[in-house]
Amino acid sequence: MKVTILSHTPEPEKIVAAAARLCYSKISATQIMDNFSQEKAASFIKKLMDMGHMSPTEHVSFTFAIDGVSRTLLAQITRHRIASYSVQSLRYNNPFDKEISQDNKDKLMVKKSSYLEGFELSRRLSGHKNSMHQHLMEKYQIKGRQPENIEDLHRPSYIRGVFDGVGMISDDPEFCAAFPLELKPIFEAVHFNLTQKGEKLLIKNENALDFGRYIYEDSDFTDSLYDEKKLLALCSKYEKLNDLILSLLLNSIDTKYYSMVPESISKNLKAILTYIKGLNACKKCYVDLVKMGINQEDARYILPHGTQTRIVMTMNVRSLYNFFNLRCCERAQTEIRQLADLMLAEIKKIAPGLFETAGAPCEALGYCPEGDFGCGKYPTSK
Ligand SMILES: Cc1cc2nc3c(=O)[nH]c(=O)nc-3n(C[C@H](O)[C@H](O)[C@H](O)COP(=O)(O)OP(=O)(O)OC[C@H]3O[C@@H](n4cnc5c(N)ncnc54)[C@H](O)[C@@H]3O)c2cc1C
Repeated sequence: MKVTILSHTPEPEKIVAAAARLCYSKISATQIMDNFSQEKAASFIKKLMDMGHMSPTEHVSFTFAIDGVSRTLLAQITRHRIASYSVQSLRYNNPFDKEISQDNKDKLMVKKSSYLEGFELSRRLSGHKNSMHQHLMEKYQIKGRQPENIEDLHRPSYIRGVFDGVGMISDDPEFCAAFPLELKPIFEAVHFNLTQKGEKLLIKNENALDFGRYIYEDSDFTDSLYDEKKLLALCSKYEKLNDLILSLLLNSIDTKYYSMVPESISKNLKAILTYIKGLNACKKCYVDLVKMGINQEDARYILPHGTQTRIVMTMNVRSLYNFFNLRCCERAQTEIRQLADLMLAEIKKIAPGLFETAGAPCEALGYCPEGDFGCGKYPTSK
């Protein structure tokens, strides 16, 4: 999310103070402006705010560029009627142009078959009879090829297949993952550093991050094959790996799905994996609809509320006060609250006096007017 103030009424504090002063003065607003210092204006504004004489603040407005917010936020912000909006349209902008013009299917197929080759060979070498993914094994004619026969580019998928095939989360506190000793030739071929202990090959804890990065970095967690239970088990043991996978997923959601992620989902690996599956399904339908000739303005119905957009919004100061009052409060939803906090911080750099008391009502009142719905930051009565 990014907020930029594109423009605002010049000398905002002086304009508001001069308009207010006019109400109590015999001279014109032009004369008042000419004789008004910034300090005088500031002290006048303070009086004005204490009185609640808000109409002069309507003469000053601010125009914001708001980038990287969800369409959920768009629905909320446009409920604020005393404002003007321009919104990036999904009628004219297809967020998935690339996917429509360029086919990644071949690359994906090789990735999948590399994973399955690793999976199959590891199961065979360690004596497992029944192979999973049977229909895929037949579809891709998987034989359980040796790592030398896998392109360098697709070795990470291959080793991910090996891990999902027979890898275990190690019981030993010094090691993260364990493999049967029979897999030694595979790991020698990919130059991965393993320690032999009894009948097992082990990956040391200090290599957990490298190992996780190696096998998961090229995965998109939707079309790529991976074992979710193993990923979650490994990440629950290693916080740094958990953080790395979360950052890979967030980056992929931003670039591949043009979507926002709510904060509560962005911190929970299982939730974010579920979220990304939903995004992928919506995107696939959208791309298919556009490919079959459906207009973008109709195909967009399938896109989620999280889809990103850009907004230009102009609001006058009085309306901004109302906006900050409602949306800086903890009761407002997280994304719009973050936006309101960012807007207020930016606006205070330009007109600190004018916005001194803006924000959640509790900050100015010293108590929370939300009663039982209060967040606990302030007591609920005076
Ligand atoms: C925590 C929270 C939860 C919410 N939940 C819901 C919900 O569940 N469902 C839902 O529909 N909305 C919900 N809203 C949206 C809310 O009801 C308002 O529509 C939104 O906050 C815009 O506020 P506003 O009307 O004050 O702003 P604006 O439209 O900018 O209006 C500013 C002020 O102008 C005056 N005004 C504007 N238009 C009129 C009018 N026609 N008549 C009289 N006075 C007018 C009012 O004094 C108003 O406060 C929620 C908002 C918040 C902050």
